[in-house]
Amino acid sequence: MKNLKLASLEHKKERTIDKVGNVEVGHGLTVIAGPCSVESEDQLLETARAVKEAGADMLRGGAFKPRTSPYAFQGLGLQGLKLLEKARKETGLPIVTEVIDTRDVSWVCEYVDVLQIGARNMQNYSLLKEVGKSGKAVLLKRGMYSTLEEWLNCAEYILNEGNPNVILCERGIRTFETYTRNTFDLSAIPAVKELTHLPIIADPSHGTGRLSLITPMSVAAVACGADGLIVEVHRNPEEALSDKDQALTPQQFADLMQKVRSQRKFMDSSN
Ligand code: PEP
Ligand code: MN
Repeated sequence: MKNLKLASLEHKKERTIDKVGNVEVGHGLTVIAGPCSVESEDQLLETARAVKEAGADMLRGGAFKPRTSPYAFQGLGLQGLKLLEKARKETGLPIVTEVIDTRDVSWVCEYVDVLQIGARNMQNYSLLKEVGKSGKAVLLKRGMYSTLEEWLNCAEYILNEGNPNVILCERGIRTFETYTRNTFDLSAIPAVKELTHLPIIADPSHGTGRLSLITPMSVAAVACGADGLIVEVHRNPEEALSDKDQALTPQQFADLMQKVRSQRKFMDSSN
């Protein structure tokens, strides 16, 4: 990829480790878990305690939701950010949340630790420049119709603003398949590792949209060298206001954690 400069492995030679609080993304396995959306204080705090107990390293939760329908739940906005701040205070988990508007970036930074750029905004270049200027760690999801080259060029936009803290996230792409919500592109993980020094994590929740596939794809992503996972968990999935069909219960998440940990241990011992 000739047009890549700052993002290319050839350019930097050593792998980037993004420090977020005490968490080092790119060193060991980093697991981010939590609800798709922040819905209420009880929902967020109960879920946050449960994912912490199961060993998650960071808490996710959307306060601004990019929904297909304008009539669907759009997120709690500022109130959601305040709840995320409260959850961080109680659990100590750094917070990952999505920003969808350039006008929100600077003030959202006051509440959270990692800014997520969602698949639908991957090529929103003014948003990329704004999060680049913020200096906060950025979780850059792959667009659902994007090639690896397009995706890595979006990382280049952020790096080019002087922000080295980029974490890539494979979340599945659109294909002709309809059984799964998206086609989770496992091959992107080792491919990205060949091309860039940036850490890459996997999102098997949006990648498959099917509960039964999330744990096997998590283990597979770890086997492919993923630096971590981002997984949707809800204290009571049936009540979830967004993405209820792909939300794991706290118990299912705890089981997933055991499986991915043993996969990682196996890989570390056979290296
Ligand atoms: C999300 O993380 O809830 C989300 C909207 O993800 P994506 O941008 O990958 O669809
Ligand atoms: Mn979601």
